[in-house]
Amino acid sequence: MKTYIPISTAEKNLILSGDKSEPLRVLQTSDEQDLIVLRADNLELDPKDTVLKELINRMLQTVTDENKPGVGIAAPQIGINRRVFLAQRLDKPEQPFEFFVNPEIVWYSKILRKGEEGCLSIAEAYDTVYRSYAIQITYFDLEGKHFQEVVEGFTAVIMQHEMDHLNGILFTDHVEEQREKEYEDASTKNVLVYLK
Ligand SMILES: [Zn+2]
Repeated sequence: MKTYIPISTAEKNLILSGDKSEPLRVLQTSDEQDLIVLRADNLELDPKDTVLKELINRMLQTVTDENKPGVGIAAPQIGINRRVFLAQRLDKPEQPFEFFVNPEIVWYSKILRKGEEGCLSIAEAYDTVYRSYAIQITYFDLEGKHFQEVVEGFTAVIMQHEMDHLNGILFTDHVEEQREKEYEDASTKNVLVYLK
């Protein structure tokens, strides 16, 4: 059995602070103290910790805040340095938000997808980022069951963006680093087609 560092009293106090049906404050890169938290290491959680359910609920209230809605949120964005994020499943009919505990992206497609991104923690910044078109992700549910799934398109982009938050990386970092690179249009390559 894996041992996890339990959710601390300080973390618990923040998760349960104020009205539990209200969003929590989203940390901003423009704030020096917030940025330290956004750049910090994030610890794995015990999937069966009862406070985790409250944390997920609070993250859901925050990402669906009608004043500032998003398509994904990671725990460090509300000040909790733990490895859990929520992503909106735009690839599913009802487009629900789902949570991913101790997630890992175990495979990235070589084919990339170019798209516009923003972040709840970076006000007014939108920019183009290249991400893998498809990924394979593994994660836990609240019973400690382990899952793996292959996801593609914009939902895979959301997951890559949120996974970055768990590693202290912001989308603006990619914008900087990708500016130096050159990309080849996949449609100009020879593609083998299977003929009947
Ligand atoms: Zn973000």
